[in-house]
Amino acid sequence: MANPKIKSSARTAKKSNAAAGRKPASKSLYSRADIEEIFRRFSIQRPEPKGELEHVNPFTLVVAVALSAQATDAGVNKATRALFAIADTPRKMLDLGEERIREYIKTIGLYRNKAKNVVALSEKLITDFGGEVPRTREELMTLPGVGRKTANVVLSMAFGQATMAVDTHIFRIANRLLLAPGKTPDEVEQRLMKIIPDQYLYHAHHWLILHGRYCCKARKPECERCVIADLCRSPEKTWDIPAPLVELPAQVIGAEAAG
Ligand code: SF4
Repeated sequence: MANPKIKSSARTAKKSNAAAGRKPASKSLYSRADIEEIFRRFSIQRPEPKGELEHVNPFTLVVAVALSAQATDAGVNKATRALFAIADTPRKMLDLGEERIREYIKTIGLYRNKAKNVVALSEKLITDFGGEVPRTREELMTLPGVGRKTANVVLSMAFGQATMAVDTHIFRIANRLLLAPGKTPDEVEQRLMKIIPDQYLYHAHHWLILHGRYCCKARKPECERCVIADLCRSPEKTWDIPAPLVELPAQVIGAEAAG
């Protein structure tokens, strides 16, 4: 199919920036109204977006997120289903022991180190938090293997707080679209938290991840399938006509695109 001609001002801006040797924009290129419209469309596409990491309680969520670094959710789920069936509390995880945990998760990258962290964080939860997962970012980040991103995911998915856990997809989208450009995940997190309208903040994290995973993919964004193609100001976009705005079928975990 032939591409419609893109009148994107961003493309022109990129060329002129490059010609003038200027750095790309450090602020969002989007007006309030555009941002509102982007998230309104995401909310119609996915009214109830869900994280794709399987878990049965806050503890198993912490473990699943810690295991998911540099791994796909589908890959983590495959390994944790059997693990969580026999160890869904810090105590049971400790009783299982590092060696057996390793056996369960050996299909996941960096599994040796991750098994160590699962044991260490289970120990810390028992000694410092009475076996319960704490509800503040600061406390969560004291757990071995739990950084700011993991803490944000747990606060959002386990405790219903509006947070922005900047993973690889969100970092890419924020910069590619020049929506909330930033050099580090923390910078992107702060900018997104500032520009996303309050009513969309709680689900925004999942909308952006799912948009990045299934549409605005890393290697080649699928702009012809994109519901915000008209609003997008990415220099990388290849299509200008938005895809029909309809609710998408339920997510199919395992069909994760390598992106
Ligand atoms: S138009 Fe293309 S580059 Fe822009 S958000 Fe959609 S998929 Fe990504």
